[in-house]
Amino acid sequence: MKIAKTIADVRPAVAAARREGQTIGLVPTMGALHEGHLSLIDAAADGCDYVVVSNFVNPTQFGPNEDLETYPRTPDADRAACQVRGVDVVFEPPVEEMYPREELTTVQVRDLSDRLCGARRPGHFTGVCTVVSKLLHIVLPDRAYFGEKDYQQAVIIRRTVEDLNFPVEIVTCPTVRETDGLARSSRNAYLTAEERQQAPALHESLQLARGMIEDRHPPAGEVLDAMREHLAACAPDGREDYIEIVDPETLESVEDTDRTVVIAMAVYLGSARLIDNMRIG
Ligand code: AMP
Repeated sequence: MKIAKTIADVRPAVAAARREGQTIGLVPTMGALHEGHLSLIDAAADGCDYVVVSNFVNPTQFGPNEDLETYPRTPDADRAACQVRGVDVVFEPPVEEMYPREELTTVQVRDLSDRLCGARRPGHFTGVCTVVSKLLHIVLPDRAYFGEKDYQQAVIIRRTVEDLNFPVEIVTCPTVRETDGLARSSRNAYLTAEERQQAPALHESLQLARGMIEDRHPPAGEVLDAMREHLAACAPDGREDYIEIVDPETLESVEDTDRTVVIAMAVYLGSARLIDNMRIG
C-alpha cells in the first residue's frame, strides 16, 4: 500500500494502474475511519480493481466557529485499517498541497447548498464540492463512493458531476449504524457517556416517523411533532438544529407524505452535532 502525500505521488501510481486496464475507485474521507468509511472502502474494492482512499480534513468546509482544530485525527490507525482492506493508495495531503495559495476558484451548487445543513453552515457545501472536485481531478477515478448518511452531500455531489460533466460514476452506500441505531460518525467521539445513551433517539424518531407515514400518510407537521416529542422524552439534552421532511431530489420541504420523502435532521448533543436521515416511500 502506497502512502502518498503529494499530487505528484498519486497521479503516476494511478496512471500506471489505469494503463494496465484496472478500474479506479476513490473513497474521499476526513479520516478517523470507522465502520461507515470501511463499508465504502469494501464497496470500492468490490466494484473496482484499484482503490484510492483520501484522508484529508478539509479546512474550507468548516465554519469559523466549528470543530476544525478538534476534529479527530488517527492517521496510523487509518493506514492500518486501509492496509487490512487491501487499499492501494492512501492519499494524505498536507493542507498546503491542496491549497498552496488563497483559492480564487470554488465549485458552488446553488440552491441545493442553501437548504438543510447548508442553511446552518454557510459555505460548507462549497468547501465540500471544491475539495471533491479537486480530488476527482487528481485521481480521475471511474467511480467515487459516498455515504447516504450525508444525504444532502451525496445529492449535491451527484449534481456537481452532472452539471460539470465529470466522467465518474457516483456510488452511494447505506448508512452503517451501531447496534442501537446510532449512525456511525467520527463526531460520536465527542459524546459523553450520558449523551451517548441519548443519541439513539435520533434514529428512533426516524423509525417512528416511518411507521406513521407507512401507516396513514399524515401531514408532515404531524410527523415532525411526534419526532420532536420523542426527542424531548428520550434525548432531553439534545438541541434541534433542524428536522425537515423534504423532496429527495430538490430538498424542498413537503407537506404531503403520500409520496417518496427524505426526513433529514441535525441535533446538537453536548458539543457533537449529529446528523441522520431516512428515505421513506
Ligand atoms: P467523512 O470522513 O465524515 O467526511 O465521511 C467520508 C465518507 O464516509 C462520506 O461519504 C460519508 O457519507 C461516509 N460516511 C460517514 N459515516 C458513514 C456511515 N455511518 N455510514 C456510511 N457512510 C458513512
